[in-house]
Amino acid sequence: MLRVTGLSVSYGSVNAVKKVSFEVAKGEIVAIIGSNGAGKTTILETISGILKPSEGKIEYQEKDITGQKAEKIVRLGISHMPEGRKIFPDLTVEDNLLLGGWVRRRDRQIIQQNIDIVFSYFPRLKERKAQLAGTLSGGEQQMLAISRALMSSPNVLLLDEPSLGLAPIMVQEIYRIIKELNSQGLTILLVEQMAYLALKVASRGYVLENGRIVLNGTGTELLQNPKVIDAYLGGKKKNQKEKPKEASL
Ligand code: ATP
Repeated sequence: MLRVTGLSVSYGSVNAVKKVSFEVAKGEIVAIIGSNGAGKTTILETISGILKPSEGKIEYQEKDITGQKAEKIVRLGISHMPEGRKIFPDLTVEDNLLLGGWVRRRDRQIIQQNIDIVFSYFPRLKERKAQLAGTLSGGEQQMLAISRALMSSPNVLLLDEPSLGLAPIMVQEIYRIIKELNSQGLTILLVEQMAYLALKVASRGYVLENGRIVLNGTGTELLQNPKVIDAYLGGKKKNQKEKPKEASL
């Protein structure tokens, strides 16, 4: 469904992403894990048309979409939940959602249908639909950010660090919903520093270091890979019983 081939992205003289290749098949959850500055956000922003690559190709449903404008990419069915949520704090929950549905604005029925769908996933947002988004709790803001990304009726959802800054219980809730969205047919590309959770829900994963993919495999394979365990899971392999806090998914 989404294929990235030999992608390189630079910020001036900084080569943030170097010849990265990966793919996401229809119906999959694919995780890209990596530490701060590995290039995860840069990859997502390039897929969604915010950044232009210096080389490489991005294909979606077998069509080349490299370098297309962000609005066109959303219209084609790829929606991006940015890192740090980037909701509009001075607008209500409902207005944030309407902005998320901007590319579908001419079809009121679809907009209403999408609002109903996101409120069914996140009843807390329904209760707070008239509240200013900036007054929501961190977890609720994350729910709103995911909901806003769903408003454009995507086939593929790009999620940038959905667990960032959330309490463990809220992280579990967000991941439960990610799994549910996927079980309803949404294809998901997820980037995360919380490697354990991401690999637990992902069918496949890629490990990104300094802008390059250094490992890939199924979620289960990567969770058992000694390098992943050492670098991203706090070296927990030695004592299998002792799992990270988020283990109860
Ligand atoms: P994090 O998890 O901390 O968000 P990341 O894996 O998403 O990290 P990116 O944000 O993609 O990493 O950054 C990759 C590299 O590109 C880093 O070295 C970063 O400093 C650099 N970079 C990102 N944005 C810019 C920018 N606007 N100008 C210059 N360099 C940038």
